[in-house]
Amino acid sequence: MSAHATDLHRDAVIWDTHGGFSPFADLDLSFLERWLASGVTYLSVNVGYDHVITWQDTVRAIAHFRRWIALHPRSFALAATTDDIALAKRDCKLAIAFDLEGTDALDGNIEMIALYYRLGVRQMLLAYNRTNRFAGGCHDEDMGLTPLGREAIAEMNRIGMVVDCSHTSHRSTMEMMERSSAPVVFSHSNPRALCDHGRNIRDDQIKACAATGGVIGINGVGAFLGDNDISARRMVEHIDYVAQLVGPDHVGLGLDYLPDVEEVPKLFARYPHAWPGYTAADMMANRFAPPELLPEITDLLVARGYSDSDVRGILGENFLRVARQVWQ
Ligand SMILES: [Zn+2]
Repeated sequence: MSAHATDLHRDAVIWDTHGGFSPFADLDLSFLERWLASGVTYLSVNVGYDHVITWQDTVRAIAHFRRWIALHPRSFALAATTDDIALAKRDCKLAIAFDLEGTDALDGNIEMIALYYRLGVRQMLLAYNRTNRFAGGCHDEDMGLTPLGREAIAEMNRIGMVVDCSHTSHRSTMEMMERSSAPVVFSHSNPRALCDHGRNIRDDQIKACAATGGVIGINGVGAFLGDNDISARRMVEHIDYVAQLVGPDHVGLGLDYLPDVEEVPKLFARYPHAWPGYTAADMMANRFAPPELLPEITDLLVARGYSDSDVRGILGENFLRVARQVWQ
């Protein structure tokens, strides 16, 4: 790693828009030290996803995670505002907020959005893989938003929760981006032009996201990067594709990393309907790029000729810009 890239990585705000581990209410979060050691400033921790985690499980997980963070103040801090993230950077801590994948956690009530915001949830996607009462899922019929989905977007805009389009059907995402009055993100979605997978997104989605002022977070999931290649080089190819298409101000990182590789195959065996079209063998073989890969990504971006300000944008300032505009 070049000395210049090392300095840039150390000084940058590094933003990981989505962690891939499940929100179990007895989880020891000590593994989050790995994000801190890799230079990460902010991580969005998942607190629920459709079909597997009930709204009661989500509330239990939030209670547990908030308490765990409060009991480990030397390394971690809950981020309610972007000022909290600046303080965490200054104090060499990992700032944490929460996200929801899907709307099972709302139990059909948009009133829950403001409550979750108060509890630390800063982004939410409407449908996780399968179609639900709000929107179409990316592995289900390509339908648009339902009336409830449209209400949810308006309420998220009102409250200051970031609208996230990952995992949701093409038509629903296009409607979400058209309707939202605030920038919209894909927290962890890769370009389909480089890997033709149902979880990946098309160029028109990438362009529509950028047009809202939003950001696409590139994930480190082998199946979505292609050929199960989780190298920094492959991730930078995906970053570069989005940067070439819509500019470097609209691309970031959402690794989707989980430390326990056995978690997904176990959950798949129990809740196969959450991941239609996947096989147990795929789930067993799937690899995930760890946060330790991040310095090499910085190094490769510098080597590719990205300017310092572009590299800082991709590593975190682009998503920070969205948070400054949307969070209240
Ligand atoms: Zn996901």
